Amino acid sequence: MKIPVNMITDDFNMNNNAFIEEAFTELFPERDFFYDADLKYSGRFKALNGQIKLSGRKLTIKLGRLWEDVSPDIRKGIIQHLLKRLFKYKGAETLSMELYESFAKQMSEDAPVTQSDPILDEAFYRVNSKYFDSLLEKPNLKWGSRSTSKLAGYDYTTDTVSVSTIFKSGDIPREWVDYLVYHELLHKKLKYHRSGGKTYHHTSEFKHLEEQFEDFHKIDKDIKIFVKALPGRIKKRKKRGFFDYFL
Ligand SMILES: [Zn+2]
Repeated sequence: MKIPVNMITDDFNMNNNAFIEEAFTELFPERDFFYDADLKYSGRFKALNGQIKLSGRKLTIKLGRLWEDVSPDIRKGIIQHLLKRLFKYKGAETLSMELYESFAKQMSEDAPVTQSDPILDEAFYRVNSKYFDSLLEKPNLKWGSRSTSKLAGYDYTTDTVSVSTIFKSGDIPREWVDYLVYHELLHKKLKYHRSGGKTYHHTSEFKHLEEQFEDFHKIDKDIKIFVKALPGRIKKRKKRGFFDYFL
């Protein structure tokens, strides 16, 4: 059965496969949906994060437990974001995707701030005072994984700045950590810009402000050289995902 585009789903108990098919068909009305799709909820995911995996015809979407209580229209939005990433959808955003984004924005304003770290906290206070007149509210600050492709990120849904642990060592100039935190705080401050059904994170305004960081060009270059020289570095840069904003 083909579900009409833009249909609003009211049925919380709709079969998972049919729900994913509906989300897919809105994005790709021309394509057949021949996947065996499953939607699972996992306590492993923090807050509103999700994950998508395709193996043969088996399409698995895992969402954090919190999603079980979110309205299906918004839930369809995150599923479409995940499908967009997997199938490289280039079209306009759907109503559900927009609902999901404003929901995520709201979540970030309400997210509890519980995580901190002495090095990252200090970086935050320096940067907030020097570049934001100390007006930004402190987000969660934490070390991420030891990643050489994702150097730092800002998660809107949890209001969390994370920095790769490759910058944790005492030999790292503190300006580097400040710079990474500054970049992510710009995401917190500016959120994102929407135009023509697309979402832009690194807008010209963003880039202009980013360049205001003292010694921006030198630090940016030095960090790239440092990352390049690390052993076991991933050559190809990962594609930008919705939850991860890479430098
Ligand atoms: Zn960024």
